[in-house]
Amino acid sequence: MQGYIIHTQKVKDEDLLVYILTEENVIKSYRFYGARHANIMTGYKIDFELVENQNFLPQLRSVLHLGFRWLTNRDKLIIWQQLMRLFYLHLKDIGSVDQIYFNELEICAKRFGLANPKRLIIESYIRILEAEGRLHSEFECFVCDEVIKDKVCLTRGFLLSHPHCFKRDEFDKQAIEILFNTNSTIELSDNDVNKIYQIILEGF
Ligand SMILES: [Zn+2]
Repeated sequence: MQGYIIHTQKVKDEDLLVYILTEENVIKSYRFYGARHANIMTGYKIDFELVENQNFLPQLRSVLHLGFRWLTNRDKLIIWQQLMRLFYLHLKDIGSVDQIYFNELEICAKRFGLANPKRLIIESYIRILEAEGRLHSEFECFVCDEVIKDKVCLTRGFLLSHPHCFKRDEFDKQAIEILFNTNSTIELSDNDVNKIYQIILEGF
């Protein structure tokens, strides 16, 4: 089986709780400490086996790290681990999940080395919101329900508001409209991309 480690937590000495996102599940597994075990870290894509346990969590075994070259780039690694944290918080209490989450990590991982990671994550997040039915492409303010005409503020979950109704970072409506309709950040400046990325960091 293959999956992404979206969270690890130390328990008892050196044992680990390991949360893995696969195509269909978020698996909470247990790894007993062993000096000869390969190192594992949040963000790694791994091939692994599970040993089922009647009275306890499945045990994580035969872990093989499927590396990405960009993992040695510290800045990219930090952004990747931020993304893992967002996925973990969003999915940790759900057993079986839609394939989109795994697939989006696959898309990002493949392109993380060459593209701007923040742009990739924004584009992924739009697709996830769309799949979850949470993308507000009708441009109505969530405070007053009136249509938004030129400037738009974005907040967590990409809720939209008039600047005078709910003050957050402000963007040109047209740029956000293009983002929502095409899933592309091409019309956004790096400055806008940084601001939008910060909004995503507040939580899926
Ligand atoms: Zn309003």
